[in-house]
Amino acid sequence: SERYAKIWEGGLRGDLREILYDVDTLQSTILDMGEQITRDYAGKEPLLVAILKGSYPFLADLARAINLPLTVDFMAVSSYKGTKSTGVVRILKDLDRSISGRDVIIVEDIIDSGLTLQYLRENLRGRGPASVEIAALLDKKVVRAGKPNEDMGAKYVGFECPNEFVVGYGLDYNGRYRNLPFIGVLREEVYS
Ligand code: 5GP
Ligand code: MG
Ligand code: MG
Repeated sequence: SERYAKIWEGGLRGDLREILYDVDTLQSTILDMGEQITRDYAGKEPLLVAILKGSYPFLADLARAINLPLTVDFMAVSSYKGTKSTGVVRILKDLDRSISGRDVIIVEDIIDSGLTLQYLRENLRGRGPASVEIAALLDKKVVRAGKPNEDMGAKYVGFECPNEFVVGYGLDYNGRYRNLPFIGVLREEVYS
């Protein structure tokens, strides 16, 4: 992480107003999560289903912290969100293999409204897996219009995230910033 600090001294990092989770903080929380999953799934062979693209760094680090035989698969989805979130999700890339009888862990970067995950979880549950759990790196747990978000029941959550637009470690703004090794808040100027 000293090498990372040197690499990220200037340049793109200047677009951030604040860093919320630095390299060490992310790694240590993800290692904890991996250890917990290793204990919880002892004797099983979980299938990690990563939701593209945002969860690719999280998947890579989480999978390497789980000392079990496991397999990975990928899905890509787009959420239709007009003025009201409808929870209508389109599958752009589906899983390669059947999940029948498998212990599935959905690996997601961030839970905001939770509608994407709600849809995905129900969709996967309909395919006859042994179990479906969620591992989310960040959970915004925001309150909108006086209504708290429906509890997503994510079994594994890395951090409760403030209600800000965050980028880095897989999370993008217009496709950029996924390659930052930390997570932070963009400066307002960057939007305009
Ligand atoms: P949800 O259906 O939970 O509202 O949407 C979740 C998806 O929206 C995430 O998987 C992520 O792609 C995107 N998203 C939500 N909040 C943020 C954020 O603060 N920053 C970025 N970069 N993406 C976000
Ligand atoms: Mg996502
Ligand atoms: Mg995005």
